[in-house]
Amino acid sequence: MYYTASASNNNDFITLLKKYDVIHSDKVEKAMRSVDRGHYVYPGTNPYEDCPQPLFSGQTISAPHMHAMCLEILENNLTPGAKVLDVGSGSGYLTAAMGMMVGETGKVIGIDVIPDLISFANANVKKDHPELLEKNIVEIKLGDGWKGCPEQAPFDAIHVGAAASSLPTPLLDQLKVGGTLVIPVGTSSQFLKKYVKGENGTFSEEVITGVRYVPLVPQS
Ligand code: SAH
Repeated sequence: MYYTASASNNNDFITLLKKYDVIHSDKVEKAMRSVDRGHYVYPGTNPYEDCPQPLFSGQTISAPHMHAMCLEILENNLTPGAKVLDVGSGSGYLTAAMGMMVGETGKVIGIDVIPDLISFANANVKKDHPELLEKNIVEIKLGDGWKGCPEQAPFDAIHVGAAASSLPTPLLDQLKVGGTLVIPVGTSSQFLKKYVKGENGTFSEEVITGVRYVPLVPQS
């Protein structure tokens, strides 16, 4: 589902996304207003329309309505001081938005498998919110989403920005009790799923909606 929302600057674009009922939460609205999508797209593509845009190496920055949806799903875990993992950080947009939500006492680790995209994402965040990197709130580095980031676990929230053919269990293991994982799962047919970790190794699972993401590349 794509909306026809298109604007000439980030602020007007976020106002449109609110008007079209894509953004419901004030906290998410604030984060998406503060992170300018114009800093995270490839030159020549329009950042202020509600569709995914090509980056390079066949990857895309996700559509704004997916960014909004995932931030809202994770919102209760993206509180000041929270520790977060963003798998498939791509453009760095969502990593930065989550960094704004967790603040100076929080930490968001973005991991990706494509070194050029890691450089791109770091440069994008540096243009938009250099303090996120300077204050070590955001760190974007090489890592495999099938393994997660055990050395920095446990996390309050984990976002996955590429579709896994099956659920990577290390990501569930790396959640705190009460922590939330949002992940697209599937191949030709994919669903965005939400997992919340309970006590004693239990999890709740919720299917949010059908989606179409690039694949989480298989473990080497
Ligand atoms: N949230 C990002 C999505 C980028 S597209 C954004 O909106 O910009 C998905 C990303 O997942 C790509 O950057 C791709 O390189 C990365 N990716 C694919 N397989 C991966 C894996 N196994 N581990 C980590 N990142 C992966």
